[in-house]
Amino acid sequence: MEWSDIPREYLGTIPSPLQPLTRLTEYLRKRGPCPSLWMKRDDCTGLATGGNKVRKLEFLVADALRLGADVLITQGAVQSNHARQTAAAAAARGLDCQLLLEQRIEGDAEYENSGNVLLDQLLGATIVEKLPLDSDMQEVMEGLAGRLRAQGHVPYVIPGGGSTPVGALGYVLCAEELQNSAGKIDYVVHATGSAGTQAGLVAGFRALGSATRVLGISVRQPMEAQVNTVHELAERTLDYMNINKVIARGDVEVDDRFIGRGYGYPTAEMVSAVKLVARTEGILLDPVYSGKGMAGLLGAIAEQRFRSQDDVVFIHTGGTVGLFGYRSAFA
Ligand SMILES: *Cc1c(COP(=O)(O)O)cnc(C)c1O
Repeated sequence: MEWSDIPREYLGTIPSPLQPLTRLTEYLRKRGPCPSLWMKRDDCTGLATGGNKVRKLEFLVADALRLGADVLITQGAVQSNHARQTAAAAAARGLDCQLLLEQRIEGDAEYENSGNVLLDQLLGATIVEKLPLDSDMQEVMEGLAGRLRAQGHVPYVIPGGGSTPVGALGYVLCAEELQNSAGKIDYVVHATGSAGTQAGLVAGFRALGSATRVLGISVRQPMEAQVNTVHELAERTLDYMNINKVIARGDVEVDDRFIGRGYGYPTAEMVSAVKLVARTEGILLDPVYSGKGMAGLLGAIAEQRFRSQDDVVFIHTGGTVGLFGYRSAFA
């Protein structure tokens, strides 16, 4: 793909490492058939502890700077990794950052103040407001942008998770990285929320003519709704790149059986997946996304969704600092 025309700010340490999960694979093979497992370390993208939003922000911040923005506005859950990475990206480019946080679960004092919230503040972002569950966050952001414009600022509003065609370009680039890495990849598995990660990967593999499949483990929406969101964004992303290809609905695979009570609520499978990967590989997942994503991967292995000779890459999308907001779930 031709990247030279698309504005990008080099905020992260990208490409990220791709490593074999040798001990986890061995552990699972003692219990049943298991493909060869790999991990794409998007938790190691740098920028204030990294994560998948760094990839999206490289393109979003470039777009903001192109438009002359002086302040980034975004929204997320109280323990939003996206909000924290946006705060860091803003700091790294001398922009102001204003955050709106949605109270999606009833958290304890650590949930409200530690983990990502502590880092948002350390990075100099303003937490404008914490709003109740099911607020129209996009509308509140537009209202804030209007007030800032009236004061002479140039705000750039980033939707939750940075999941626009511009943000999804970060994962088109990741698909290309995976395609160029040594060896075949049969499946890529990761946690899916606001859908930009999966949409970018699906669009990227489609654009490359790759046979690699992508399985998203939903952390929020039921399967049908998540497939629609990913599919629509993947098509808009190809349009944005002027690539004239369609994406089959069957190319968007989502498993919604690992959400539990809802977004941000811990599950028993998440807790055991986080502990298993910590204790076999020394790698820390997170409670809201990659822990549930890994639970979904373990479930798919148990159901023999893959062949033993397959190579399966789990994308560690970051969020480890969220563990400090969820201490009670692991106690
Ligand atoms: C945002 C996030 C995801 C989900 O990515 P989307 O592009 O929103 O689907 C997964 N893992 C972590 C740690 C995240 O912060």
